[in-house]
Amino acid sequence: MARGKKIYEGKAKTLYEGPEPGTIIQYFKDDATAFNAEKKAVIEGKGVLNNMLSEYFMTGLAQVGVPTHFLKRLNMREQLVRACEIVPLEVIVRNYAAGSMAKRLGIEEGTQLPRPIVEYCYKDDALGDPLVTEEHIAAFGWASQQDMDDILSLALRVNDFLAGVMYGVGIKLVDFKIEIGRVYDGDFQRLIVADEISPDSCRLWDMKTGEKLDKDVFRRDLGSLTHAYTEVATRLGVMPKNNPQPGKPTLIN
Ligand code: UDP
Repeated sequence: MARGKKIYEGKAKTLYEGPEPGTIIQYFKDDATAFNAEKKAVIEGKGVLNNMLSEYFMTGLAQVGVPTHFLKRLNMREQLVRACEIVPLEVIVRNYAAGSMAKRLGIEEGTQLPRPIVEYCYKDDALGDPLVTEEHIAAFGWASQQDMDDILSLALRVNDFLAGVMYGVGIKLVDFKIEIGRVYDGDFQRLIVADEISPDSCRLWDMKTGEKLDKDVFRRDLGSLTHAYTEVATRLGVMPKNNPQPGKPTLIN
């Protein structure tokens, strides 16, 4: 499928105009960044794994009735998605304390939270995506009260789905981040899950050993990121078990 003009180049993905109006092609790069792009590397195969994993999660979400921007995977690195206006918020759902929340509140990493906690960060790289409250969101008009009700409901539904899928393969969903898109059907507007869902934007710990199977492997220099993501993909059946070349993604189709 012919790619159109480049629309945007982000840290891990590049967006191109799609073949029809209202569509976009998401190209998954091998670039990894952390700490607001202070730490960078190219990790061979990461883009392929994230493309496949994001397809898997977005397709599953659609099947349980959670609307997403995903239309179809085009090849190893590209997927066709619905164009949408991205709400300028990172929506984070946490089941266990980790990362910035553990630090901010002095809670030991891995402590189970009394209930899922949803946080919002304002999407602005120059500011380091600061944590904001619903007061900021309403006052600055980033989302309406109705949007916030819908976003909370989407976030918790994604959490239930992802936590269940991960539980089924012996992985604890510690936390994750999603982005929300706004689409218009005539005069009617609605919110859908956009961007990607992959181990780049989740914390995933092996239930038995506690081994980290997400981007913290890169952030904290804990070993091979490709190995960790391949493990997640293999457990979910997105990749065959007997990969002849460990570290090199071999895909089912
Ligand atoms: N996250 C993300 N992109 C960001 C910030 C966070 O995907 O720009 C994800 C991160 O991978 C983790 C969750 O959101 O799964 C919570 O991240 P946290 O606030 O703890 O920040 P971090 O410790 O990653 O800086």
